[in-house]
Amino acid sequence: MRPDLLNPLFAEIEALKGVGPQLAKALHRLGLVRVVDLLFHLPTGAIERVRAPHATPALLGRNVVLEVKPFDARQSSGRGPTRIYAADGDGNVITLAFFNNPGWAKKQLPLGEAKVVSGKLEAYGDQWQMVHPEVLGTGEELPLREPVYPLTEGLTSRRVHDLVVQALERAPQLSEWIEPSVLGREGWRPWRSAVAELHSDPEAASSRKRLAYDEVFANQLALQLLRQVSRRKRGVPLQGDGRLAARLNLPYDLTGAQRRVVEEIRGDMAQAAPMLRLLQGDVGSGKTLVALLAMLNAVEAGAQAALLAPTEILARQHHATLLRQLDPIGVRVAILTGREKGRARDSVLMGLASGEIDILVGTHAIFQEKVGYRNLGLAVIDEQHRFGVSQRLLLSAKAERPPHLLVMTATPIPRTLTLTQYGEMDVSRIDEMPPGRSPVETRVISEERLGEIIDGLGRHVDAGGQAYWVCPLVEESEGTDAAAAEERAAVLRQHFPGKVGLVHGRMKGPDKDAVMAAFSANELAVLVATTVIEVGVDVPNATLMIVEGAERFGLAQLHQLRGRVGRGQGKSTCLLIRGQQLSETGRARLALMRETSDGFRIAEEDLKLRGPGEILGTRQSGEAAFRLATPEMLGELVPLATDDARLLLDRDGGLAGERGQAARLCLYLFERDQAVDLLRSG
Ligand code: ADP
Ligand code: MG
Repeated sequence: MRPDLLNPLFAEIEALKGVGPQLAKALHRLGLVRVVDLLFHLPTGAIERVRAPHATPALLGRNVVLEVKPFDARQSSGRGPTRIYAADGDGNVITLAFFNNPGWAKKQLPLGEAKVVSGKLEAYGDQWQMVHPEVLGTGEELPLREPVYPLTEGLTSRRVHDLVVQALERAPQLSEWIEPSVLGREGWRPWRSAVAELHSDPEAASSRKRLAYDEVFANQLALQLLRQVSRRKRGVPLQGDGRLAARLNLPYDLTGAQRRVVEEIRGDMAQAAPMLRLLQGDVGSGKTLVALLAMLNAVEAGAQAALLAPTEILARQHHATLLRQLDPIGVRVAILTGREKGRARDSVLMGLASGEIDILVGTHAIFQEKVGYRNLGLAVIDEQHRFGVSQRLLLSAKAERPPHLLVMTATPIPRTLTLTQYGEMDVSRIDEMPPGRSPVETRVISEERLGEIIDGLGRHVDAGGQAYWVCPLVEESEGTDAAAAEERAAVLRQHFPGKVGLVHGRMKGPDKDAVMAAFSANELAVLVATTVIEVGVDVPNATLMIVEGAERFGLAQLHQLRGRVGRGQGKSTCLLIRGQQLSETGRARLALMRETSDGFRIAEEDLKLRGPGEILGTRQSGEAAFRLATPEMLGELVPLATDDARLLLDRDGGLAGERGQAARLCLYLFERDQAVDLLRSG
């Protein structure tokens, strides 16, 4: 339960004076739903005004507040502006121009009546001009410095600020949760005063840093609580004897890295404290085999294992791979996704409950409440970026006897983001590729040469090769992306009739699977796709990857796409098609792709090399969790907050002391409340 102290902050925004349905709607569009959201909606800058008795050249270009007396009004014919001529205190003529609503302008500025106008002073011939000034009565005050907020239609910065002032009035003083030595060194103000300062002085760097720190601290503390509570539970120690693994018929040896990681996992699983392990390995590094061996370890020890894939396509692919390898040795594998219905579903559920099924593969359906396992010993989450902290929480910290947990990700993220996303987990890395891979040759080509690219694709296809063609992200909307992909597929089908397949996120599951299956079986030579193929798909014969509008992808995403090829024996190529207008940053980003195939280096650079707003879908998972802390701040704040959180829990694991209680407030404030719940249940 949230402490009463914070209730005023979590009230709906409509509780503020003057917020009716229409204003609320505009605020909601900005994600401002509760009072607290408004406090964290920080200004991006400030507007400065000067009050002056009359216009002077020194004031040109500045925001000036002047008292004037209108003496003439003229309305241009057609769409021209309404001009109102007014005299300032020195008798200078100031032209006030209004481009719409002439009636309104004339009513605001009746001839002969003194008014105060405020706006940017510009030169107009040898006269002075203000376009769309604000108009006030002579007694009215206008702040000389005013914060500027991110806005949407129907809102002004002043309106937002007025609401913020109300919100600040409701904000309580909160006792301090930051370690005194950190607070002292940084010279930070108390929380409430820091918020207030930022809303009047957007440049107050120290207070901005403090709020960002609070947010990161809440996140890191929540993860560590999750770890503490999970590790305190008794799971099931599982020690396989290797008899099933020995019977596997693998066409290759494990790489050194695979071997090491499998040992780390087996070591964890032998303990009663449940495993919490993250397995990082670049695309193609062979994580599936590691998962398979971990699951066999569980089965050998008499437990069940479950493998969660993020998409239907991947679940089916994993299922097929596992069946091929496990059926011959008598391990029973089943699949469960949203598409298994009726009898098929019932029989899987029964098999799980009775223990007849050893390994279950599927999408999120496999961890729904209705799915009861006889003895689930290991849960493996593949390509987890759609499986967040709260789901991990349900699996481990909230379970009576939590299963061992292995999370696998191919998304190479910078170290700081690993900490914010998986701070509760131990990390294993596969840092070695299976032998015999030749690096993918990467080329950047202008879209003007589309004809040549299609000719090249033709030669590749004639020689029996297969290729992916990935269409650009148009918007962050699957609908528009799908339309672009359909268009591209239509063009390619004219060149290669009967050989082109299309998959995109708007298609129904079975239709997608059918296309993927046909491509896997080499019945299709070209697969046109939106980024749905980004994760996991494995077709070794496909050795050409073409990415259209490459500059619009995040580097980490391009890296993942490129990882789809270079999986078989043949030499592989990745063509990055770029648009005709490419910024400096865009150029540097694509050059980096040509230069390196090191996913972790690419991820670090991706964080640095972003033209603001230039690229869609590039927020790395993990950044998205923060609204106050920017990517540039994370590098410094994450290690600091992580240590602070650890120290606090070492001293006061139940968050019962004075600082512990304060830290609970911080968790609630940033809505990491699930972590507080853990303290009660754990
Ligand atoms: P990812 O880590 O991206 O999930 P996969 O598990 O799909 O990678 O493996 C990529 C490819 O490498 C697969 O075709 C797999 O059979 C193969 N592979 C895995 N381990 C080895 C190994 N030790 N030696 C050779 N090939 C391997
Ligand atoms: Mg994989």
